[in-house]
Amino acid sequence: MIILGIETSCDDTAISLVNEKGTVLSNVVSSQEVFHKNFGGIVPEIASRKHSELIGYAITETLKIAGKSLEDIDLISVTKGPGLVGSLIIGVETAKAISFALNKPLIGINHLEGHIYSLFLGGPKLSKIKNPFPLIILIVSGGHTELVLMENHLKYRVIGRTRDDAAGEAIDKFARFLGYGYPGGPLIEKLGINGNPEFHKFPHLTFKGSPYEFSFSGLKTAGIYFLEKNPAAVKNNLNDIAASFEKTVVDILTERTIRAAVDYKVKGIGVVGGVSANKRLRKTLTTEAPVEVFLPEKTFSTDNAAMIALAGYRHFERGEKDNLLLDVYSRLEIE
Ligand code: AMP
Ligand code: MG
Repeated sequence: MIILGIETSCDDTAISLVNEKGTVLSNVVSSQEVFHKNFGGIVPEIASRKHSELIGYAITETLKIAGKSLEDIDLISVTKGPGLVGSLIIGVETAKAISFALNKPLIGINHLEGHIYSLFLGGPKLSKIKNPFPLIILIVSGGHTELVLMENHLKYRVIGRTRDDAAGEAIDKFARFLGYGYPGGPLIEKLGINGNPEFHKFPHLTFKGSPYEFSFSGLKTAGIYFLEKNPAAVKNNLNDIAASFEKTVVDILTERTIRAAVDYKVKGIGVVGGVSANKRLRKTLTTEAPVEVFLPEKTFSTDNAAMIALAGYRHFERGEKDNLLLDVYSRLEIE
């Protein structure tokens, strides 16, 4: 089977062709970063307009790279939420148009479930293990921070999430306050490589009775407050400050994830979403976790359509499909 994946939930216009084994035939991500970076964040209106300008080219390019035509497609899988409604609509309406014109089945996918399936794409070890379940999945992106117990394919239970900001959001705001554009994660990582992570202790909150819950709003505020109050340190110890802030985020994520993995006696840990590209997070979790840690290939850590295509195949295989009434959802639960 050849599955066409379409992902437009945020600021990347992403199209991919994947087969039923999770082998990626082509993967195109047209980043809109240049259009948003001067605004310090994503401008929804610009995002949806750019999706509609770029999506046709992205599809043509994806087919060309794989040497396929639209007629070769067996299933169309598209992100239906959560995300920016104006952006999601461009992907979903395009998917419906192709489905209608070619009389091919259509399926709408939860973006976060897509991220989970980035672990099963192509080469990663996880796709080769017969029964890797149960798994604890840490979803860390610009908009989400969740701990999910994955009991089997397509079977999830959210056991913890952030009460306020996502981890990526806190890093992005901190970077923005330092005068850096969006996304801040890679910049903080770069600054932090040569910094002393013990330079400053930022707050590491835990909640009594809710061991898997996160909160990053307090950390973000504490970070910005520290920058305001310590201009000399910002001038002389920028690398140390970045490393300390990054380490705090990583420690919070690591501590909750390992606790969940131990409590639920899982066979492995998966980490997905944009922040999973972070080297300090990858290293700390891999070193400290009592079970194997699975990470997507870096290309598939950030938003892409290959993961949406593979998740769509899993649902289709189970007999599910959508029709032309498929809608978009700004908020959507994974369970
Ligand atoms: P996503 O929402 O999945 O597209 O991921 C975007 C988020 O990942 C943004 O908040 C980025 O700042 C963050 N991010 C990307 N690369 C890194 C990195 N190397 N370290 C930390 N955060 C990162
Ligand atoms: Mg994402």
